[in-house]
Amino acid sequence: MTITDVHELLRPIVHYNLHLLFPGVIAWIFFRKEWKKAWLIMIVTMLVDLDHLLADPIFDPTRCSIGFHPLHSFYAIAGYFILLLFPKLRIVATGLLFHMVTDYIDCLWMWSLSG
Ligand SMILES: [Zn+2]
Repeated sequence: MTITDVHELLRPIVHYNLHLLFPGVIAWIFFRKEWKKAWLIMIVTMLVDLDHLLADPIFDPTRCSIGFHPLHSFYAIAGYFILLLFPKLRIVATGLLFHMVTDYIDCLWMWSLSG
């Protein structure tokens, strides 16, 4: 097994842990008083991945979601920053922005493997 194989194996594991567990850490740091609720809300923001259903093929491990899918476009990301300004939407916005960061890390990882 080469180092690349190890990376290929780790990539989805790290990715889904970042999507599911790390929001718990963020919730604990930034929304301590209501961290369980914040964690749940941030996990629910995973639903932005539903925009993948519009794409063909729905899943392509060699494609970067950022800038490709409608809810992962740069316009959408700008919108998530605007949502941050509204206290009631702050947790949702944090979840969405963190989701984009996670997806982007995955793209960087993928490019580093294919490059
Ligand atoms: Zn995504």
